[in-house]
Amino acid sequence: MSTVNASGWKPEMGESDVMTSSTYTGNRALMLEEALIFEIGDTHTTGVDLETAPVVKSRLGGLDRNREMGIPGLSEPETVRHYTRLSRQNYAIDLGLFPLGSCTMKHNPRLNEKVARMKGFADVHPLQPQETVQGALQVINELAFWLVHLTGMHGVAMAPKAGAHGELCGILCIKAALEARGEDRKVILVPESAHGTNPATAAFAGFAVENIPATPKGRVDVAALKARLGPDVAGVMITNPNTCGLFERDLKIISDAVHAAGGYVYCDGANFNAIVGKVRPGDLGVDAMHINLHKTFSTPHGGGGPGSGPVVLSEALSPYGPIPYAARYADGSFKLVEEESAGEEHPATFGRMTAFHGQMGMFTRALAYIMSHGADGLKQVAEDAVLNANYVLRSLEDTLDAPFGASGPCMHEALFTDDGLAEGFSTLDVAKGLIDEGYHPMTVYFPLVVHGAMLVEPTETESKAALDPFIGALRSVANRAKQGDPALKSAPHFAPRRRLDETLAARKPVLVWKEPELPIAAE
Ligand SMILES: *Cc1c(COP(=O)(O)O)cnc(C)c1O
Repeated sequence: MSTVNASGWKPEMGESDVMTSSTYTGNRALMLEEALIFEIGDTHTTGVDLETAPVVKSRLGGLDRNREMGIPGLSEPETVRHYTRLSRQNYAIDLGLFPLGSCTMKHNPRLNEKVARMKGFADVHPLQPQETVQGALQVINELAFWLVHLTGMHGVAMAPKAGAHGELCGILCIKAALEARGEDRKVILVPESAHGTNPATAAFAGFAVENIPATPKGRVDVAALKARLGPDVAGVMITNPNTCGLFERDLKIISDAVHAAGGYVYCDGANFNAIVGKVRPGDLGVDAMHINLHKTFSTPHGGGGPGSGPVVLSEALSPYGPIPYAARYADGSFKLVEEESAGEEHPATFGRMTAFHGQMGMFTRALAYIMSHGADGLKQVAEDAVLNANYVLRSLEDTLDAPFGASGPCMHEALFTDDGLAEGFSTLDVAKGLIDEGYHPMTVYFPLVVHGAMLVEPTETESKAALDPFIGALRSVANRAKQGDPALKSAPHFAPRRRLDETLAARKPVLVWKEPELPIAAE
């Protein structure tokens, strides 16, 4: 078993050798080593005693399962320990600052969790009669109102389950609107700095994607975009604030030009926390924008929870939004408008994106977050997010290359590059060095338009007291990379795992699951 290594200790060793030698168990004090579940479990162990199943006639129509599935079994305490040990090797927003740019890894207030766990929200079932879940429908409707209000838009589709899913929803609305106009426009324009999900979404929805270059100052090249507009262009997808951490000041000019050419404007609103309460995308001519509740409105993400990506829509696109949605009627009642009633109430809908109405737990958390902040508090969210990012940018621009530092203040994230590191040292070395300092690395090599990018998003929930040691750590690691410290090339040294060969891991993944020996037999 790989958890148990022979100790490397030998009688002739001195004290410092002992420090670096391995232990009998492979553990390092209370940091416990843990093997894969496939290595420690076996298929004959279960946590409960089950009676031998009776032999019954197959009802699988000839598809018989006469082999083991190879799923490892463990007893309950072994299972609990396995996952708890793994969780201790992980990093989480509840452990420390999580500076991943573009991801908005911020504190999730416990108040949200408390509200989401209330029985009336947590225990309802999506197939329950609607008259028994009026409160839950009201939450959806009320959150929808806030999202429309905060963005200055006309309508909102609540169902999409993440940002990328929201993009697809918005692009399908654009497609439906073009079809209703009887137009067959095939091209979506996407700036070079776009998040990878943007071109993927457009391509998935059947559009051809064309890139629009960025200016040397990190913003969309408006002249190039205008020059490409024409009767074949369905629309543009623009992130604002963009992935270089800059506000696209010309978005209104872009929207006007796109509309004049008959297209629609999709705005990637993943970075809305930088402008919430300050700027309304509806005023900038946006037709559709997803909002990542798991970023701006502080619902858990990463390993912590599902995403949720409602899409706000302009008046032009609202008629095409998906069903179901929670409608409010004059008598104060709420109803999910589904297929049966859509013909009358929402006839132009492009259809359905999800089985039910969306991520109820995230809606509850997001509404709790919005209402506990209030309109003035949300404004401060944006101000603090921008202040923190600029504090990081200005604190480190003497050490790390900040390509757009001269373009003025950044928005919610600070962008640096590997320019100026010693020969042979790269962004990756800085990221791995940060792990030894006890931080999750920043986003690396994104946006793609910037060589060796390091994107730091501190978020508004970090205090100066939390930012200062992070800035100190990044400065220290960056200086080691500039001076060519050879130890940095093999960092991390103190993490549960040393530096992995990421290329090999991606190209030749070792999957422990073995092919079953018996073929699946037909009856
Ligand atoms: C996070 C993000 C997305 C994708 O959102 P998911 O919820 O992860 O699908 C899209 N665009 C930008 C700019 C993002 O930061």
